[in-house]
Parts: sequence; structure tokens; C-alpha cells
Amino acid sequence: MTSPSVVREVLAGLGIRPLKRLGQNFLVDHNLRERIISGLEIVPGDRIVEIGPGLGAITQGILEKSDDVHAIEIDHALAAHLRDFFGARLHLHEGDALEADLAALLGPSGKLVGNLPYYISTPLVAAAVAARPAIAVLMLQSEVAARLQAPPATPERGALTLLIEYAADVEPWAKAGPNLFYPPPKVSSQVVRLHPRPSPVAAPWSAIRPIVAAAFQYRRKTLGRALQEGLGLEPEVAAQALRAAGIDAVRRGETLSLQEFGRLAETLGRGG
Ligand code: SAM
Repeated sequence: MTSPSVVREVLAGLGIRPLKRLGQNFLVDHNLRERIISGLEIVPGDRIVEIGPGLGAITQGILEKSDDVHAIEIDHALAAHLRDFFGARLHLHEGDALEADLAALLGPSGKLVGNLPYYISTPLVAAAVAARPAIAVLMLQSEVAARLQAPPATPERGALTLLIEYAADVEPWAKAGPNLFYPPPKVSSQVVRLHPRPSPVAAPWSAIRPIVAAAFQYRRKTLGRALQEGLGLEPEVAAQALRAAGIDAVRRGETLSLQEFGRLAETLGRGG
């Protein structure tokens, strides 16, 4: 599966036309495939979970290194092909990865990999982090990869950035232009490695999340206004909480660090 013409022929032989609505852009580059697999640092006995195996380009390489591979594929025709091709060696779960219990599939030390379907990469990244794999190697559209790594006061910074800062370190792993896929997508891609780790702040994500959501829902407003409108706080309560957290009320949410969101969650948790 290392050239567009081979993938085109395999698909034609199976009577499958790539579906745009399922983000079907198949990997056709040997080096990128090897780079993705090497990012998993597979050792014997590792459980590997793959999201969206497609024609099995990455799956095949993983199966050469691990005999405990699970893959979740939503497309019925591709799932049938994977069953025929890999047989019982691959534990195939036919269905929607967003509805799968990733944490249960990963177990205590499983690793996650996926050339993710771009139409749901944001919720899949959030689900991946929540499932706490030992490591995740994910192909994303460059724009989403940039959001994961966006420093304060940049337009790419958003709720997903804060979730990642809370839960994982991000390591850029490879860049991928459209010609490395068949059919080529309209956008460039980036592979990132996510390393889940304990949060650097004391407040739980459940307390930080609504504040982050309000701050970015009203990102053009000052934080004082965003807290009032997003959380329904009285102006004085919002102002007092920001003062207690040492945050200027006229700042905008995208300028805050995770630590500042954490302090705000703690002061609001104490009643402002
Ligand atoms: N891994 C293959 C590769 O690298 O060539 C295919 C990657 S392709 C970008 C995305 C794959 O995810 C497709 O096989 C598609 O059918 C599958 N997919 C799309 N939506 C999905 C979902 N909600 N759950 C599981 N798989 C999904």
C-alpha cells in the first residue's frame, strides 16, 4: 500500500469508493507509515488500539510487532475487507470510535494510534486523552495540531488546547503533505505524539472546563463579561473571583494560562 495506484486498485477490486464524509484519505507513503509505527515504541506484549484502520496500512505494520491489536472501523465494507485480510490476528470492532469505550479497550497500559478521520478529529483527540493511553500517535489536520500546541494570546488557542495542557504533553512527530494520501485531502497534516501525565494544576478538569468554555465562547469579550454571560455570574461575583485569582478582568480568555484558569476555578469553587 505504498502508492496511490496500488491503493486505487485495491479499492476498485473491493468495489469501494473513498467516502469523503468518513474522512477516507488512505496513507500511501512507506516512510510516514514507519514513522507513525516507530512512535508507538512497541515492545512485545503491548496492547495497541487503532482508530480507523481503513485498508490496514498502519495495522499491518503494527501486527508485525504486536499480537494484541484492536482496531475500530466504522465502514462496513472496509471492516469486511480487514476481517478477510487479517483474520483472527486482528481484533476488529466494527462501529463508531466516538462511541467506543477506549479506556476499556486500552486497558491499563495500551497505546493508541490513528490516522484520524478529519471530520471528528477534535472530539476523538478529547476522547483519546480521557482514555489515558500510555502514548497516542495521532495524525491530525495541521490546523488541529496547531490548536493542541497554541501558546496564550494566539488565535489557535481554545478549549482543546487547555484540555491537552491539563492532561498530556504534545510532541510534534511528523509533517505530511496531501500527496502522501489517496485521495489527497485539501489540507496538510501533522502527526503528534501525546504523552498523558498528571495535571500540573490542583483543580479538577470538571471545575476548570465550564470556565474555559465560557472564556472561549465569548472570546471577544473581556473575562469579566465572559464569566457573567457564560456562567451567569453577577458582575460583582465575577469581578471578585478574578481579583482573588490575581487576574485582570479586562483580559480575554485566550491570554490565560492553564495555571490561571486553575486559580480561577479554585476561587470560584470557594464561592469567589
Ligand atoms: N488508517 C488508514 C490509513 O492510514 O490509510 C485509514 C485512515 S482514513 C484517514 C480514516 C479511517 O477512519 C477510514 O477508514 C474511515 O472509514 C474510518 N472512520 C471514519 N469515521 C470513523 C468513526 N467514527 N469511527 C471509526 N472509524 C472511522
